[in-house]
Amino acid sequence: MQIEIEARSGFCFGVKRAIEMAEAALRQGEELYCLGAIVHNEEETARLHQMGMEEATHRQLEALSGKPVLLRAHGEPPETYDRIQENDIQVIDGTCPVVRKLQKRVRKAFEERPEAQILIYGKKGHPEVVGLEGQTAFQAIVVGDDDGDLKKIDFQRAVVLFSQTTMSQEGFRDLAERIRQGMKEAGADPDHLLSVNDTICRQVSRRGPAIKEFAQKHDVIIFVSGLGSSNGRYLYGLCKEVNQRSFLVSSEKELKKEWFSGAQSAGISGATSTPLWQMERMAETIKELL
Ligand code: SF4
Repeated sequence: MQIEIEARSGFCFGVKRAIEMAEAALRQGEELYCLGAIVHNEEETARLHQMGMEEATHRQLEALSGKPVLLRAHGEPPETYDRIQENDIQVIDGTCPVVRKLQKRVRKAFEERPEAQILIYGKKGHPEVVGLEGQTAFQAIVVGDDDGDLKKIDFQRAVVLFSQTTMSQEGFRDLAERIRQGMKEAGADPDHLLSVNDTICRQVSRRGPAIKEFAQKHDVIIFVSGLGSSNGRYLYGLCKEVNQRSFLVSSEKELKKEWFSGAQSAGISGATSTPLWQMERMAETIKELL
């Protein structure tokens, strides 16, 4: 059977950069703490733990005084930086430059548009979203794909809409349209009151059309992603849309021989937090399985 790994898969540049920063610090023999899981990928996290990196929670920050702490690509709210400074922590800042730029835009809108509601299309509690909410003193409204979230919006007031970088473009467009409709129904003019800022990362959105084409080309798709990855769920959803024989796995132990029954080809792809080495290992395991 022919097995192909999607050429565009593997880490996005923001995750790659944060991991390279961690590896560089660990190579110098330093102890290193990462604030939260460095990526939503259990196997890659385990690899870095083996190299000596430890994971710390936000609650433990005060106990890390004087120690090196890596901030992951998702970014952090301003209060984390305050606590780092107060506790004399050595910070290695792995915040993705795309996320940092978005944080600045959200902060600017919050400061310059006091009359407006700042809306973030994203997953409540996701670390990147927490970092964005922090730019607005946690006054931003987080709206997901749940219809009930729309109730949080006052359609008669101005809205500045942003997106978490890893959300789906279709979902974002749909939300913008529903806000536009809500404003019209409330007798307000969306052309004046609604500002739509598509801040979805192009590293994710550009993969959409390519992954669909890839999924159509193969009999079976194995999509590799950690369970906590937002873009993983989104990209896997696109595979499933065009190829019913798409399977989501986080480890090669989950592969099942019957998935490949009668198949001539299998495609392997993954989230922006899935390392290439894991997909290569997946390909080897499929060959051994058949
Ligand atoms: S998906 Fe985009 S914004 Fe998010 S870490 Fe990767 S490069 Fe940065």
